This record gives sequence, C-alpha cells and structure tokens, in this order.
Amino acid sequence: MIDKKTLVRWDKKYVWHPFTQMQEWEGDPDIAVIERAEGPYLLDIDGNRYLDAVSSLWVNLHGHTNEHMNRAIVEQLSKVAHSTMLGLSNVPSIVLAKRLMELLPKNLVKVFYSDNGSTAVEVAIKMAYLYWQYAKGEKRSTFVKFDGSYHGDTIGSVSVGGIKIFHEKFGELCFETLEAPYPFCYRCPKNLDKSSCLKECFSEFENIIDKNSKKIAAVIIEPLVQCAAGIRTAPSGFLQFVESVCKRYGFLLITDEVATGFGRTGKMFAIEHENVTPDFLAIAKGISGGYLPLAATVTTQKVYDAFLGKYEDFKTFFHGHTYTGNPLACASAIASLEIFEKEQTIENLPPKMEALSKGLKKFWELQITGDIRQVGLIAGVELVKNRKTKEPFEPKHKVGQRVCRRARKYGVISRPLSDVLVFFPPLCCSTDEIAEICDGMFKATKDVLKELKDSGVI
Ligand code: PMP
Repeated sequence: MIDKKTLVRWDKKYVWHPFTQMQEWEGDPDIAVIERAEGPYLLDIDGNRYLDAVSSLWVNLHGHTNEHMNRAIVEQLSKVAHSTMLGLSNVPSIVLAKRLMELLPKNLVKVFYSDNGSTAVEVAIKMAYLYWQYAKGEKRSTFVKFDGSYHGDTIGSVSVGGIKIFHEKFGELCFETLEAPYPFCYRCPKNLDKSSCLKECFSEFENIIDKNSKKIAAVIIEPLVQCAAGIRTAPSGFLQFVESVCKRYGFLLITDEVATGFGRTGKMFAIEHENVTPDFLAIAKGISGGYLPLAATVTTQKVYDAFLGKYEDFKTFFHGHTYTGNPLACASAIASLEIFEKEQTIENLPPKMEALSKGLKKFWELQITGDIRQVGLIAGVELVKNRKTKEPFEPKHKVGQRVCRRARKYGVISRPLSDVLVFFPPLCCSTDEIAEICDGMFKATKDVLKELKDSGVI
C-alpha cells in the first residue's frame, strides 16, 4: 500500500489534470485522493466519505460498485475484454445497439460507437458533412451552434463550441460556424423581461438560418439545458422550434445528449420532453452507467444509406477509434439498461427531483444566490455579487471553487462551473441523500458568504 504523502508527491510530479490550473494544484496542501466508492459515496484514501454530487462528472447513474454492474463487467471480462469492430463484431455491441433501438425515436436506427462525448459529436459532424456530398452532391461545411454551447474538446467539437474562455483560443484551428443566440433567460442577450418576452431570440435563430440557408449542413444543440455553460436552461418549446426550422429548411439536426441522456432530465432522453426526432443523437457519459468509456452516435436510415456503395467508390465512413464498441463497456451499458428496467429508475425519479427543488429553495436565504435552475436531477445555483443587478464576482475570488472545497468538510464533492454550483447526483440517490447534498452545499455557501463579507468583497 502506497501512503498518501507519496501518492500526492507523485501526482504533483507526474500528472497533468484536465481543466485544472496546475500552478494552483501544485500549491494545494489538501488534495483528495479517491480510493474506493460505494453507491453515491466516494471514499478518499484518508477514509473520508463524500456524497458524489456530480456523479463523477455526470456519468454515474446507479451508484458506484453496484453489484449488478460489477457482475456484468466481470462476466464479460471472463469472455473477452476487447476485440476490434473494424471488420469484426462482438456480442455486447450488437445486443446494446438492439436495446438502444427500443428506447430511441423510431427514425434513429443505426448506432456508430466511439468512446467519449467529444468523439460522438465529432462523428455526427463528419457524417453530416459527408451526407450532403454523398446524398445531395453538395458541399456544405457550415454548422450552426449556440452561444454557450459545449460539445467536447477535440478540434471538431471545439469548432461547434460557444464558451469563450474555453474555445476562442483555438479559433484559427476551427472550421466555420454560425453562432445563434441561446435563449438563456437569466442573462437574456436582449435584456428582455421573462414576463413580456416575445421570444425574439427564437426568430434571431431563424434569421441566421434564412440568410445562410445554402451553406448550412447541420444545427447542433444540447437539448433543454446547456450544462457546461453553467446549467443554462432553455424555455420550453425552444428545442421543438429549432427542430421545426431545421425540418423546414431541410438541414440536419444534431442533438447532443452526452450530458442529458439516460434519465438525467426526468426522461430517458431530453428530446422526449418535446417529442423531437433528430437526425443524429450523440450519447456518452451515462451510457455505461458511468463505469467505462463508451459513446455512440445514433442516426437515420437516410444518413446511413448515403454512405453505401461499392468498395472502390470509397464512400466508406473512414472513421473508427481503437476502442470503439469495446465489449466490456457495452456489457456495462447493457447492465445499466437492465437496472433501469428492473428498478424502474425513471419512474422513481419524480420524488427525487422534488427533493432537489426543495433542497435548493433554501439557497434563496443567501444574498449571493442569483438564480436557481433545474431540469430533472440536473441543477445549478448561480452565485452573484449582487442579486439585483446580477453582477458576477470577479474570477479572482473563485467563489464557486471555494464553496465546493468547503463542501467537502460537510461530506459533499461537487465541481462548479465558474460561480454556478452544480447538482448532478447519481439517479440512485435517495431523497434523503439529495437533501444531504443540498444541505452540505448550503452550509458551505453560507461559510464562504461570511468570508466574502469579512474580507470586504461584498
Ligand atoms: N457534449 C456535452 C453536452 C458534454 O457535456 C460533454 C462533456 N461534459 C461532451 C460533449 C464531451 O464529452 P467527453 O468529455 O466525454 O468528451
């Protein structure tokens, strides 16, 4: 057994963490090193137990070290851990594709596997681009995205990203896109009031489409909620409106359910809330129950058919990651879907969603709570310097980060998005556990509020 001190020393010496300012990390005297987990709890090497309030970055559904999940993976392990899908098939990837068909809109009929959310999006982009050439004889390379969108970290998915601090730096490496305003009412781009708004941003989206209709290949959207941008929820009807515009102009619609898929919004997929049937559905994260890296891009017969031809036509889709359709990951995904069925996971969500709403209401007692947004079991509490003016804190105060660090003392692990506190608990959490998460985060916010007052920041 290697002691914690040694592990932390090796970590700081050899590891580069994602989305982490390593200068700060290196100076951090209190790094948590996770050693094991059970249900919705993470346990660190010192034996501290924390509720995993963000499902280990939005992936875990049925709890850690879940018996059914573990058994399915071990059983598959005794058969084969990996074999390629390039020109070969494997049992779990076939069974999983069939299972997914039973859950998805009828127009989505072909499953293309990859291994993370970015690649699931990348595949949709490449397929959409080639679809226009193969099916229509047209070269269309423009994609429409929304401001604040996040679709992953590869250059293709960064091209369709709209979070300035992440994506602007890579501008010259990215392909052309058109950015439409996202109807994020709390910080309305048009400064309109919710009560009198006529949804001008809906028509702005349509204007952009109309002006550029000859060059657009596809529109990409995170249905119902932009998670990485800070749990930015869209008004109801927006997704359906986007779909109707795409259908009217004949563009392809890519819905990215990497974060929202598999029950998070209260339904298996967020598109179900507005009966939307996209041309591409990108899924990852929760697909494997949060156990192994797996993703899929699901598409229509029409798109699939465009790629058919003789070998020498070279219309083959020349794309495929080494671990595509990995049997272990697919076995874990099948096990996860079995749990959904056996435990009626979706049917049991409403009281949990209610517990989350109830727990979050308390945040209004704190003067730095600017907004509370929730869809299903996904929620964000936006902390601001001034509730009335919505003035944000300066980044140097790291308010979100400080709250989350403090929350560990109350037995909760979360990760903020700037100053938006994120609640993304595993679906298996009980209503009591959800209340505990809210309570821990509330106490931590209260402590940080006191610090901010004491130091004269507010
Ligand atoms: N799309 C969305 C909506 C996401 O939230 C994320 C990750 N947070 C991704 C794509 C990228 O997924 P991954 O990190 O697995 O590449």
